[in-house]
Order: sequence, then structure tokens, then C-alpha cells
Amino acid sequence: MNEKDLNASKRMQLPRDILVGPDAIKDVGKVCKELKLDGCALVVTGKITKQIAGERVVKTLSEENYEADAIIVSSASTSELEHVKQRAGEIRATFLVGVGGGKSIDVAKLASTQLGIPFLSVPTAASHDGIASSRASLTHNAQTVSVQAQTPLGIIADTKIIASAPYRLLASGCGDIISNYTAVKDWQLANKLHDTKYSEYAAALSQMTAKIIVDASNSIKPGLEASVRIVVKALISSGVAMSIAGSSRPASGSEHKFSHTLDRIAPKPALHGEQCGVGTIMMMYLHKGDWQSMRDSLKNIGAPTNSEELGIDDAYIIEALVHAHEIRPARYTILGTGLTREMAEKLARTTGVIT
Ligand SMILES: [Zn+2]
Repeated sequence: MNEKDLNASKRMQLPRDILVGPDAIKDVGKVCKELKLDGCALVVTGKITKQIAGERVVKTLSEENYEADAIIVSSASTSELEHVKQRAGEIRATFLVGVGGGKSIDVAKLASTQLGIPFLSVPTAASHDGIASSRASLTHNAQTVSVQAQTPLGIIADTKIIASAPYRLLASGCGDIISNYTAVKDWQLANKLHDTKYSEYAAALSQMTAKIIVDASNSIKPGLEASVRIVVKALISSGVAMSIAGSSRPASGSEHKFSHTLDRIAPKPALHGEQCGVGTIMMMYLHKGDWQSMRDSLKNIGAPTNSEELGIDDAYIIEALVHAHEIRPARYTILGTGLTREMAEKLARTTGVIT
């Protein structure tokens, strides 16, 4: 499906049941009952997340008389996807539950879409907006692509579990949300210059969500459930904005192209939201917006604001800026037909991303 088709669609698929709070995980079975799900569940989880949360999800499902089985995935790859679909077929699963940081949720999201059954998202970390969106990242032949899938029917976010995950993940989630600012600016530009379909509602929700994180940037701290609650709610709002738009436009623009390019070329890329956050600083400069406040908010939160903090050499930052427009070329952004190497270097230097 191309972007025009996606934007032409009037369908909005939204999550139906959202539960955010301490020990929310205990209620996964109850939420499934309320959603009138029946039959057999396949819990898709990771090796470590199974111990932290996957086993508890299986238990709560059993307590509500569901048959439940768990499968461990190690990556969001096409082979793992096929593996999960096969297992779901064997046990005649009627719904899937993705329990983990990102990979497990992506695989459960895609497998359930292809099988035509619902899925629930139970995040154990809040590092990106994939926990609530209809997009999934999938790796095939060492290339990661973003694929359209379905929106989770329910989201159960246990703030106690998420608060005990490494703080770096939560800070990365903030970077992914703050990037909504430049994503919306890019979307508005594409609407003006290329007549890309635009949704006022989706854009307003996306910007408001980013503003909440910027305004709260001084109070987002490690180990605080209150911080987790703010970030999780914002990630869910971002997912809803994408559902309203029928595309990832409200939350993904030039800064995401920069991050995707780093994923392809850097020997050791940083986290998705960390790279998007740094991308936002630079793309906001190109948009002639308040890039300093993007940088200061990320700094307050403790998210990276430069190449050193990302752990990526300056040369890759410049290279990624030069090639970022090549990612998903149909999606018009401020990068237009690309930056020259000189401009890329000047941009990174002026914004303090490289020194
Ligand atoms: Zn993102």
C-alpha cells in the first residue's frame, strides 16, 4: 500500500482497553475477559522478559480459564515471525499477547495481523511508540523495514515493571515522543508543497503529546513510577495520533529518516528514540524552530544530545544526514532532495551534535 492509499483510508483502528498502573500485569486475564476474548492465547515474549513478565501473563490468563502457551522470540525477523505463526496455528490460538520491550510486541503485532486474530500489547519498557501503534519494525536480510500492521486491541502497561527497566529505555521513549514536533512540521510542509493529506486532529494530538514531555522534562527521573506514567501515556497518545492519521506521519518525519539511516550505516547504532531525539534537534534547526528547547528538554531528561552521548562517530552523523532523504523518498520532509556534505557538517556543528 502506498502512502496516498494509506492517507485516503478513512478507517481508524484504535485500542479498546488501556490499563496503565502499578501491578496492572495481574489484570491481563481480566482485561481479556472484558474484551470478550475466548479460546487459547499465545504469549509472545523474550528470554529475559519471560521471567520478568511473560510467565506472570500466562498465569493470569490461566486464572481466567484461558488455555495459554508462551513462545520466546530473539529478534523481530521474518523467520521468527513465521515461527510464531506456525506455533499459533498448532495450538489454534485465538489471540496473541506480546510481552516485552519491542521485538516481542512487533512480532505479535505482525503475526496476529497476518493470522487475522487480535493481539494485546504488554510492554515491559517504554522506549518507543511501537507499544501502541499499528506499525511494526521487521528485519529481513539485515535490513529493518517499518510495516503496517494492526493496532493492539488492548494495552496493559505495568508501571512498576517499566520503572524497574533501565532508565535509558524510558529516556529513549521521550526522544521518540519529542520527535513528534519535527514530524508534524515535516507533515505540514509536505501538505503545502506536495498536497500530502493532512489531519488537523492527528497533528494537534501529536504536538500536544510532545509538549507534555517537554513541559515535564525536569520531573522525568529514574525509578519514578510517576515518570513512567507520563511517558507511557504519551507513547499511547502518539500511537492514537497515528491511528487517526492512518499513517505514521504525525510521529515520523526527517528525524526518523536520520535515525533509520544511522541504523543502516553505523557500526553500533544507539536506541531508536535516542537517535530520533538528536535528529529532532537538527531538523528543528532546519525548520528554523526552537531547536535549543528540544536539546534542553532532552538534556533535562538525560537523553543523548550529541554524537558522543550516542556513542556514534561524527563521520556517521554527517553521512546519515547526507543520505537520510533516501529513506522512504515518497515521504517529503525538510530534507527535500538531500543535504550537501558541507551543509550536513555545518548543521551538526551549529547544533552541537558534533564538535
Ligand atoms: Zn519512532
